[in-house]
Amino acid sequence: MRTRFAPSPTGPLHLGHAYSALLAYDMARKAGGDFLLRIEDIDRSRARPAWEAQIFDDLHWLGLDWPEPVLRQSDRLPAYRAALETLWDRGLLYPCSCHRRDIVEAASAPQEGGTPPVGPDGIVYPGTCRDKPLPPKMPEEALRLNMRKALQGIGPVSFMEEGTGPDGETGRQEIPQDQLVDGIGDIVLARRDMGTSYHLAVVLDDAAQEITHVIRGQDLFEATAIHALLQMLLGLPTPRYHHHRLIRDEAGKRLAKRDDARAISKYRADGESPADIRDRVGLR
Ligand code: GLU
Repeated sequence: MRTRFAPSPTGPLHLGHAYSALLAYDMARKAGGDFLLRIEDIDRSRARPAWEAQIFDDLHWLGLDWPEPVLRQSDRLPAYRAALETLWDRGLLYPCSCHRRDIVEAASAPQEGGTPPVGPDGIVYPGTCRDKPLPPKMPEEALRLNMRKALQGIGPVSFMEEGTGPDGETGRQEIPQDQLVDGIGDIVLARRDMGTSYHLAVVLDDAAQEITHVIRGQDLFEATAIHALLQMLLGLPTPRYHHHRLIRDEAGKRLAKRDDARAISKYRADGESPADIRDRVGLR
């Protein structure tokens, strides 16, 4: 078993992160496997070395260890590029020059004032740029996956859920094709400012690190349909998934990155121990 914790260094780790990291660590330990750390720093406008240093410090304090050096997504841009090239060569990508506002407007138009469908990657793209003529070479622009085309000739998209989704989903999850087309749509695989996207990077990195079990919060359950599809398209193995409950505040709201009140560093400063943190997240 190989598990991982994959934080983005864009803020302090809070109790929700502690739960996720401890769970992944404990599961690997129990099975005699490995626990890896990966730094998801593709969003250069938000990632900060100081947050990364704080992540290492908090996780070590919690009692976790992992093989060094850790994988950093910012070092993996050539691998992301190569995967994009293969999809481009198969005619599955197209450049998109839409801004968010164009997408909201175009997606809302047919709904007659209603709200456009929203999937795990945001508003389902209305297809504005889909049928424009393609440049001969893959451009350095935002690139979208042509979902309908991507699904042609591939078998059922599925993954194994060993934890639970937000609605109690568990076991083999088969994602119907019309859910992928109408509920998710033409997702962005390369953002103009990043040269990749979260979905593409996470799938390539889990494969490169030979992760067998992805342990993460239920907020990413819906996105797993995208990950399973990308794994099929890129010929990568699909790990098993274990989505876990989210740690919430007293009002029942899930913790956000800026929720400094529940930052691990805050509890440390208040004199709590790693065992206290385990108690707080119910992992004793
Ligand atoms: N980097 C993501 C986050 O901090 C986690 C991605 C994942 O576990 O797949 O929310």
